[in-house]
Amino acid sequence: MPRHLLKVIILGDSGVGKTPLMNQYVHKNFSEEYNTTIGADFVTKELQIDDRLVTLQIWDTAGQERFQSVGAAFFPGADCCVLVYDVTAMRSFDTLDNWHEEFIKHVRNPQDPDKFPCILLGNKIDINGGNSRVVSEKQAKEWCAAKGNILYFETSAKGDHNVDAAFLSIARTAMTNEYEQNIYVEVPEAVPETEQQGDGCVS
Ligand code: GDP
Ligand code: MG
Repeated sequence: MPRHLLKVIILGDSGVGKTPLMNQYVHKNFSEEYNTTIGADFVTKELQIDDRLVTLQIWDTAGQERFQSVGAAFFPGADCCVLVYDVTAMRSFDTLDNWHEEFIKHVRNPQDPDKFPCILLGNKIDINGGNSRVVSEKQAKEWCAAKGNILYFETSAKGDHNVDAAFLSIARTAMTNEYEQNIYVEVPEAVPETEQQGDGCVS
């Protein structure tokens, strides 16, 4: 049976629930403890999709880092971008544009930069029975439509609502990307300042 390694990256502001969503999906638990993610780390989960075994490698980044510093190291090779916002925090919705743009800048499909597979998760729908939400489902779906029909899921990491469904969809989306095999990954050149003059050709 062919095995596929799919790399997905979770992006979004600090505190939207990226790490709890990942923990709920992979470890089936939720902890109220505030646990700031430092740097980036990944967890893996094996799943079967149709007749294929898939290893989902889920990369978690620290939302409080500046956009520019997250990108270079973690984006290359990504098969799907998972954007997360908190339905009770308008700011986390407003910054989605930045996260999306930053991702696209680093992982570019030369044929169509807007078509890179992304999925949007609106998290924390459990809070106050939904009465604290400030971003409507309609608003979120409009954003997704404007970005080239990104799929949208409303989730609760705490209540384990829609988490499996969202990640299954993420895996399927990542697979489509892998099969296309047409993604050009741009890695910034790491040329030290002092070597930038001359043609660098030593023989
Ligand atoms: P991250 O920075 O995106 O990884 O998110 P955090 O792990 O810092 O989560 C921020 C806070 O939101 C924590 O106190 C979590 O317990 C809480 N949280 C995350 N997801 C949910 C959810 O679905 N529902 C509720 N009620 N709280 C959540
Ligand atoms: Mg975190």
